[in-house]
Amino acid sequence: MATSLPLPVLGAADGASYAPARDGLVAPPLAAPRPRDLCTDCGVSRSSRASRCGAACQFIHPRYAELERQVHGRERDPARGEELYFGPYLEMRRARLRRPPAGVQWTGITTRLGELLLERGIVDAVIATAADPDDRWAPRPVLVTEPGGMRACRGMKMGYSPVLALLDEAAARGYRRLAVIGVACQVHALRALEAELGLEALYVIGTPCSDNTTTERFHQFLALLTERPGEVTYLEFMPDMHVELRFADGATKRIPFILLPIAQLPPDFIPLTCRSCFDYTNALADVTVGYMAAEGDQWLLVRNARGRELVAMLGDEVVVSALTSRGDRRAPVRTFVQVLERQKGGMPVRRAPRWVRPLIGWMQTRFGPKGLEFARTRVEMKMAEGIVNLRAERPRRLRRMVPDFAWRLVAPYGLTPRPDERPETPGRDEVATTAARRVMDADEATTTVRG
Ligand SMILES: Cc1cc2nc3c(=O)[nH]c(=O)nc-3n(C[C@H](O)[C@H](O)[C@H](O)COP(=O)(O)OP(=O)(O)OC[C@H]3O[C@@H](n4cnc5c(N)ncnc54)[C@H](O)[C@@H]3O)c2cc1C
Ligand code: SF4
Ligand code: SF4
Repeated sequence: MATSLPLPVLGAADGASYAPARDGLVAPPLAAPRPRDLCTDCGVSRSSRASRCGAACQFIHPRYAELERQVHGRERDPARGEELYFGPYLEMRRARLRRPPAGVQWTGITTRLGELLLERGIVDAVIATAADPDDRWAPRPVLVTEPGGMRACRGMKMGYSPVLALLDEAAARGYRRLAVIGVACQVHALRALEAELGLEALYVIGTPCSDNTTTERFHQFLALLTERPGEVTYLEFMPDMHVELRFADGATKRIPFILLPIAQLPPDFIPLTCRSCFDYTNALADVTVGYMAAEGDQWLLVRNARGRELVAMLGDEVVVSALTSRGDRRAPVRTFVQVLERQKGGMPVRRAPRWVRPLIGWMQTRFGPKGLEFARTRVEMKMAEGIVNLRAERPRRLRRMVPDFAWRLVAPYGLTPRPDERPETPGRDEVATTAARRVMDADEATTTVRG
């Protein structure tokens, strides 16, 4: 039976206080996840479709090209604008809400889109991620049925949010017009299952996602960054290569990436799933709402007609401008790839002497890639990271998991597929699904034997 979730009141000044339970927000108890080798707990394994992981999962049976055709009517076209990097899109813009509400991660476009869909009665519910009432950083999937409920979903939580488990609850309530807000691994599974959901309408609002980890490990990371981790209300990896922390008392702290205590974290601090994830920009969403290319504002990638419909709803609540691009990513990406290959995966740790690091940090901020060039930098790094990590930890999965576009992006840095690593011929999905299940079963049976 569904229960109402006490609404956590988010926002830098709010601390961790809680408002009373309200209507319009449903958080049913979830079944436990089924054991899977590579899994980000998107919710499928907790649902009535648990047996469909083999067909839906980006780690078991990734179908980027096929699903791009299904959703956008075509695959990404490397000859078209920036599609090789960011996936199919109709337009890309820098954008910000004119009046950002408190507690949002950037300017709150994601929250506002959910509110507008509910305000106008376009959907019956939005599936999104609120915070656990006991831990503002722990994700808790919710079914939002009234615009006011979107308030509980503001801001980034760190950890895996089994949003797709709520498809059952939505169906049980007779909701056939849905919106889902999610990261790429969730959206991949959603799109793979979309045809069998029998929905009248589905709006998919995606955010990019670089790295995720368990909430528990995120708390360990916070404790390394500050002496008062319990008071941190906001954390973001800024496009000017700083991590920004905000505290409940309004204070802020900015730490250059190069000074982050990465060496103190275990190599698997970011699980292999997120170190081998190839859809950074959530190419299967109708609209992607990120920040990477937008130099302090938000980055909208409108991918299809439904995405256009979503962004049009914002009207003059949003200020839109052109994206810019400066700097040269090639040297930083080359260095990153060299460090990764030397370490054979894990998290790349720069071994520069301690006294040099502030200088490197300053130079990165001053001369590093900006705008679209920064987004290209991060996408190329992520593709290289995925390939090197899979080579080290799951070589048998590499052939299936690395999409053709990833190989193309890293080729200039000397990363090319070895003969047994070339992507499989697309279009043979039945054969691929069966083979994928075999790999999954073998991996689950031999969790200690790698490759
Ligand atoms: C783990 C993680 C890593 C990210 N990395 C990047 C990145 O590298 N580059 C980039 O451009 N953007 C990244 N994002 C997206 C970014 O943090 C913002 O969510 C996005 O820019 C939207 O901002 P907003 O102000 O519109 O969001 P808000 O209006 O504040 O809404 C935030 C939305 O995020 C959803 N959400 C929050 N936590 C989670 C979670 N753990 N899992 C799934 N959904 C969640 C909620 O449902 C909510 O609707 C990341 C998001 C997550 C969750
Ligand atoms: S589809 Fe993949 S990520 Fe989702 S529950 Fe299944 S194995 Fe895990
Ligand atoms: S990095 Fe990829 S696999 Fe990990 S949570 Fe984000 S979208 Fe999912």
